[in-house]
Amino acid sequence: MSAERTFSIIKPDAVAAGQAGQILAMIQEAGFKILAMRMTRLTEAQAREFYGVHSARPFFGGLVKFMTEGPIVVMALERENAIKGLREVMGATNPANAAEGTVRKRFAADIERNCIHGSDAPETAGQELRFFFSGADLL
Ligand code: GDP
Repeated sequence: MSAERTFSIIKPDAVAAGQAGQILAMIQEAGFKILAMRMTRLTEAQAREFYGVHSARPFFGGLVKFMTEGPIVVMALERENAIKGLREVMGATNPANAAEGTVRKRFAADIERNCIHGSDAPETAGQELRFFFSGADLL
């Protein structure tokens, strides 16, 4: 099997709580190579666009507010089976349902403030990587 790329965000809750290093360690221990990474902040417009698929959901306003409340760490990651593999490292969206040893089980407060994002499919991974990184970042 060949290497696959995925996109991840350490969300504002985890950055503010000083958990970014531990989450990064969990990602690296799961065999991911970090192709590109930076700390940044989302504008409201960026958050609305990034989570546009959820714009009709009742939690959309709260999600945009949360994702813009402080710095985030964005990452381009590579591994075999990266998309599925990262979602295993993350755990279920609701930390109450997340498996032991996952990022969300260890660190997340609730279904919204859940510490980490990971792309859910090859198409979205490509879109999300291009949203945050230039081609030169990903050589
Ligand atoms: P993910 O792929 O596991 O991150 O989950 P989704 O793509 O379904 O949702 C995107 C993000 O929206 C989640 O990571 C949460 O931060 C938030 N979210 C999802 N579902 C809910 C919900 O039912 N209530 C609230 N408040 N936030 C949610």
